[in-house]
Amino acid sequence: MTDVGTLIILGASGDLTKRLLLPGLGSLLASSRDKDSQLAGDLTIIGTSRSEHDSDWWKQVVRDGIAEGGATAKDADRLAGKAEYIRGDPSKSDDLANVLKSVVGVPVLYFALPPAVVEKAIDALKDVELPEGTILALEKPFGSDARSAAALNRRIAKLVPERQVHRIDHFLGEPTVLGLLGIRFAGRTFEPVWNSDDIERVEITYDEQLGLEGRAAYYDEAGALIDMLQSHLLQVLSIVAMEAPASIDEEDFRSATAQVLNATSIWSGEPVLPGTDQPSRRARYTAGKIDGRSLPSYVDEEGVDPARETETLAEIAVEVKTRRWAGTPFILRSGKAIGEPRRQVEIVFRKPRFVPRGLTGTRAPERFIVGLKPQSFELHLAVNGESDPFRLAPGALETEMPAQELTEYGEVLRGLLSSDPTLSVRGDIAEQCWRIIAPVIKAWRAGEVPLDDYRAGSKGPSSWS
Ligand code: NDP
Repeated sequence: MTDVGTLIILGASGDLTKRLLLPGLGSLLASSRDKDSQLAGDLTIIGTSRSEHDSDWWKQVVRDGIAEGGATAKDADRLAGKAEYIRGDPSKSDDLANVLKSVVGVPVLYFALPPAVVEKAIDALKDVELPEGTILALEKPFGSDARSAAALNRRIAKLVPERQVHRIDHFLGEPTVLGLLGIRFAGRTFEPVWNSDDIERVEITYDEQLGLEGRAAYYDEAGALIDMLQSHLLQVLSIVAMEAPASIDEEDFRSATAQVLNATSIWSGEPVLPGTDQPSRRARYTAGKIDGRSLPSYVDEEGVDPARETETLAEIAVEVKTRRWAGTPFILRSGKAIGEPRRQVEIVFRKPRFVPRGLTGTRAPERFIVGLKPQSFELHLAVNGESDPFRLAPGALETEMPAQELTEYGEVLRGLLSSDPTLSVRGDIAEQCWRIIAPVIKAWRAGEVPLDDYRAGSKGPSSWS
């Protein structure tokens, strides 16, 4: 059991709090695993922001959010009853000190704030006495490049030890991505072929149908490259490509993922993205329809500055320069407003060196697909055809994962409330992720890579397929 007693949400009036954090807490409370539900069972939830609200408003926000996550009315009422709203500016030391007076047990300080405000709040905390064991939970983006991330890390290191810092990336808790640990390291089937001799390429794709959804203030500054590839997809890559850690604890596991990212850089071999001599490409959606719903062109969305040339679809190729992986491109892609979106890791195997004469039929490459949404595993093989046993046909072994009890943020909160940072991003790893994409940012800013167009609801620019 943990001694975390208080969850302080800085940015209580914001979108993340209402839409993801509190429902995540509700899913934790509703968990059938006593160990998980007890983590949140006796929590005091303090909300703070500058907005003019009172504790009755906050109790209602907490009750609704927790109930939405699946908690019983009794649990929602119990936690809402203890919840407290303390008005204050999280970028001011006095206000932060005032909030910390109401803490019970070890507090988690959750920065549900815009990135610029997070930096101010971290500065303000240096003049505040933090209770022993205080845990800091920071959202992405962490810094704006490798230098600013390193500077932020140094400031945070003066406040609390690294293991009390959780840089949140909920993709690290994706059940099928973590499922790779069992498939690879607790079995004998895949690990011998998990290398560049046998794997031609790895494609990590996270497309979505959603457009901007009113988040221009954040997204128009970030774009798909920073919003998705720099953070989430590189974390997924680090698990796909890692060596077996000695144990699944925060030290061994995170060191194994760090080893991968330290060795990763932008692809420098022959072009692997068709139609481009660059290891990256970018595009922006124009007006279109998805599932019968009309989406305006990205540049016509409220709050977007077209001159910023923000991409809504990004694709990059990287290489992991290790003995295991040299020569295999990892292709990372994520886009908004994509019709029939794919969200998966696809491992494409090389052709076999020898096939007996007499086995005929077309052979597609063998592929292993780790589905992120929906969560599934698929192994695509060449099998002998039904009518002619020597004629090969494509076949697949598929399995779906059982529905998960915890939401993505339920998983994040499980790590926080049990003081276990294993599935959060270590400081040096956050810096590496910026280093990896820096050449792409530079090339795009210099206009060396054209900004293509694609219709909302399509699969992406027609020239890309
Ligand atoms: P919001 O834009 O909703 O802002 C959160 C809170 O910040 C507001 O409630 C506001 O409270 C406070 N705030 C805004 N400006 C200032 C300021 N200048 N000084 C002090 N407080 C300020 O952000 P989100 O909730 O959307 O996101 C929070 C963090 O979570 C961001 O880092 C984001 O990248 C990350 N995130 C968000 C996701 C989402 O879907 N929303 C998903 C994943 C990550 P008040 O004005 O009342 O003080």
